[in-house]
Amino acid sequence: MKQVAVLGATGSIGTSALDVIARHPDRLRANVLAAGSNVDALIALCGMHRPRHAVIAEESGFAALRDGLRAAGLDTEAHAGAAALDAMVAGDACDTVVAAIVGAAGLSSTLAAACAGKRLLLANKESLVLAGELLTATAHDAGAEIVPIDSEHNAIFQCLPSAHARDGLQRIFLTASGGPFRGKRRDELVDVTPAQAVAHPKWSMGPKISVDSATLMNKGLEVIEAHHLFGLPAARISVLVHPQSLVHSLVEFVDGSTLAQLGLPDMRTALAVGFAWPERIASGVRGLDLLQHGRLDFETPDLDAFPCLRLAYQALEAGGTAPAVLNAANEVAVSAFLQGRVAFLDIPALVEDSLAALPPTPADTLDVLRAADAQARRHVEQAIARMTSHG
Ligand code: NAD
Ligand code: MG
Repeated sequence: MKQVAVLGATGSIGTSALDVIARHPDRLRANVLAAGSNVDALIALCGMHRPRHAVIAEESGFAALRDGLRAAGLDTEAHAGAAALDAMVAGDACDTVVAAIVGAAGLSSTLAAACAGKRLLLANKESLVLAGELLTATAHDAGAEIVPIDSEHNAIFQCLPSAHARDGLQRIFLTASGGPFRGKRRDELVDVTPAQAVAHPKWSMGPKISVDSATLMNKGLEVIEAHHLFGLPAARISVLVHPQSLVHSLVEFVDGSTLAQLGLPDMRTALAVGFAWPERIASGVRGLDLLQHGRLDFETPDLDAFPCLRLAYQALEAGGTAPAVLNAANEVAVSAFLQGRVAFLDIPALVEDSLAALPPTPADTLDVLRAADAQARRHVEQAIARMTSHG
């Protein structure tokens, strides 16, 4: 029986993970559930999944969580705070961790899982962008198995099962749906609203990654993620826009063979792979009917309308603290866009300005990376404050 900790249990990936777990009571148990601040949603999940432990990241949520669990007649133990979460992840309440917190807020618990040698179902791509070298080295040293839960990286993982195959790897192609604004010119993106940006044509996801998909920053973060997971330089990682979102990515080998992984756009497939690998278990996702879908199209991304992808390649090439700055600037800009404080095209502008203002330094420790993250957040907040006071 695998004892699973689901971090970000109330989110989109967390919900999908719990759906897969509930299909396999004989082999998977949700023993730890963790969420950011929504105590009521966490208690409701505890009622359904009966975990041994529940953790709310916001310290002030502790009493409400403890009392709510008791009032619901549950014997789940309540915990609160980031340190409690890290300790729970590292301890023996779980052997498998679904890292599905959104943003750099997930770094500490993801690192704790890697350091404790857990099987790590890694959805929290921002932790790889921010501290990829450190995270992969920590996992390697502790014997933690990372199974990527980004659909593209999970596809590549499935196409690259052995170290021998990795030796013959020539290049990878990440596919991108193109998001809700695919085909639009830059001048048509001036007035787009948060509601339009989060209305993704193919995937149902949390708000932050939905906006990232609309700007193509999501694909940029994924290029950096792929670099760390599969050890390829930026020049050997390409992006193809594929509007049907059925081919999740492709791997080209030195012998001219290209392998792809296909399936309906539903994250439960990647999660089932992560839980059972190298075995296969049911995920609730049905098989692909290619006759019904008819065709598969591929296009080059438009870097003029969607400069975030270009900025991510630039940050990866620059190295050091640049990816941490890119990620932090983007998180603050996206959050401001969702709050209606800045426009859609301000997101790439703010990220580009941060990369220019905060030149990269070597990123050899976690402290340096955290400082770069904090500095970029301050920089963007100040830039937004200036924009809104003038505007
Ligand atoms: P979401 O917004 O739906 O859920 C985020 C979860 O994180 C929630 O449970 C929230 O309570 C929790 N959380 C937020 N801040 C926290 C904090 N400070 N401490 C602890 N918990 C906190 O997001 P999502 O769409 O599920 O995405 C989660 C992660 O998975 C992101 O990194 C995203 O890029 C990645 N991902 C998501 C999808 C998808 O289909 N949704 C696909 C690929 C990758
Ligand atoms: Mg993805």
